[in-house]
Amino acid sequence: MEFFGHIIDGAEVTSLDHATMADIDPFTQEQWAEIALGGKDDADRAVAAARKAFDEGPWPRMGYEKRQKLIHKLADLMEANAEELALADTRDMGKPVTQALHDVARSVWNFRFFADHARLSMNDTYPMDSGHHAYSRLDPAGVVVAISPWNFPLMMATWKVAPALAWGNTVVLKPAEDTPTSATILGRLAIEAGFPPGVLNVVHGYGPDSVGSALTSNPDVDRITFTGESGTGKIISAAAAQNLIPVSLELGGKGANLVFDDADIDNAVHWAIEAIFRNAGQVCLAGSRLYVQRGIYDEFIERYKAAAEKLVIGDPKDAATQFSPALASQEHWTKVQSFLTPEALAGGRLVTGGLGDGWGVQPTIVVDAPAEARVVREEIFGPVVVATPFDTEEEAVALANNTRYGLNAMVFTENLHRAHRVSAKLRAGTVWVNCFFIRDLRAPFGGVGESGVGREGGNFSREFFTEPKAVVMQIDMG
Ligand code: NAD
Repeated sequence: MEFFGHIIDGAEVTSLDHATMADIDPFTQEQWAEIALGGKDDADRAVAAARKAFDEGPWPRMGYEKRQKLIHKLADLMEANAEELALADTRDMGKPVTQALHDVARSVWNFRFFADHARLSMNDTYPMDSGHHAYSRLDPAGVVVAISPWNFPLMMATWKVAPALAWGNTVVLKPAEDTPTSATILGRLAIEAGFPPGVLNVVHGYGPDSVGSALTSNPDVDRITFTGESGTGKIISAAAAQNLIPVSLELGGKGANLVFDDADIDNAVHWAIEAIFRNAGQVCLAGSRLYVQRGIYDEFIERYKAAAEKLVIGDPKDAATQFSPALASQEHWTKVQSFLTPEALAGGRLVTGGLGDGWGVQPTIVVDAPAEARVVREEIFGPVVVATPFDTEEEAVALANNTRYGLNAMVFTENLHRAHRVSAKLRAGTVWVNCFFIRDLRAPFGGVGESGVGREGGNFSREFFTEPKAVVMQIDMG
């Protein structure tokens, strides 16, 4: 059975106490790999390695150009090993391999984009009348702890690791315990690319009272970037406050998808399918609340149901599979199926879908659920969408904003004025008009309310992963 260790100080290692955990493939429900199970001591030694690499090593001092070259080398190696990386995520959490390959391509782009962005970035200068000259420097922040979730294992990890490294920081990455293997492969490739020891460390293990809490409470850490559940985000925010360090939180969501009666219906159906059934709805950005204007509601639901029932369900390792028959873990399946009980539906009914085999939930569309139903209010993180009709634009906006989350929303309309007007009124970090999931890595990414604190992407990542410094010089003008 293949073993995946921690990556600490430039080497792949076992835990100090040699503890391991089983890595289960949710499709076969069998163990496929053995993983080093870290504890506090392993977390501490990873932070110590990152600290030493930052304080004494070449990485923060080598300059942008050399770092850019090394990061591109890592990206090249990821491309050369794309299949291994994709299969690791597929076996860890069951996503169709075609989607995992897409995630690898996006992960490669994370590295290439941020390496170039940092290299090409410019600082501000402040001409002064007093015979002085001021300018700003952006120094690397130090040791970054990156804690990532299981739904896009490699993609979410690299979304944090890439900008942190590009700006000259050293990193300790803790991937989710259910999806550890692509992180170890990434660490192996960083060693092969020639990254100095301690620059990119990976520690495996659980969150509470374990590796996760040891990392977030370590006083040698300068930044924490976290993606995961809103409840975990609150705990991590409290830990960061103890050491007075900045924390970036990308948390849960309950995205609203508004379809107006002037929309291109084929396009809206296509994206409404992607929005909730891609990655089996295990997506923070999922369009899990669908609001359709009453005049087209019945026709829309009929076409939506037909499209959902056409999705190809099969072995996630098969290139033809569009929808995985298994959710990421038994624990997660237990949570998702609890939203299909009469109590959670509160009068809502399924027009298609329901439980699948094993740890599966089929593409599921719920209608007639009242606004206060659990299925409408809480993040399900599975392939379950709740559809509701609306009459007016004002009502649609009010329904969309009636949530404690605010990660993203979608608007489908051919009316230009409505598109801008509604986008302005939606309380969300991202609004997609007539599309979904399209990203420009320069744009801000994050959420309001319980969906997060702070933004990442482009200059927003730069601000988080650097310490701006003002330098003021006196100039002898002669
Ligand atoms: P989770 O919060 O359970 O775990 C995320 C990570 O935090 C894991 O690595 C876990 O081990 C670690 N962790 C848990 N408790 C911890 C603690 N006390 N201290 C330190 N680390 C701890 O989330 P998950 O179930 O892995 O991911 C699903 C959630 O992530 C969903 O809510 C989803 O919406 C959210 N998510 C958000 C985004 C975004 O960009 N906003 C992207 C992907 C996923």
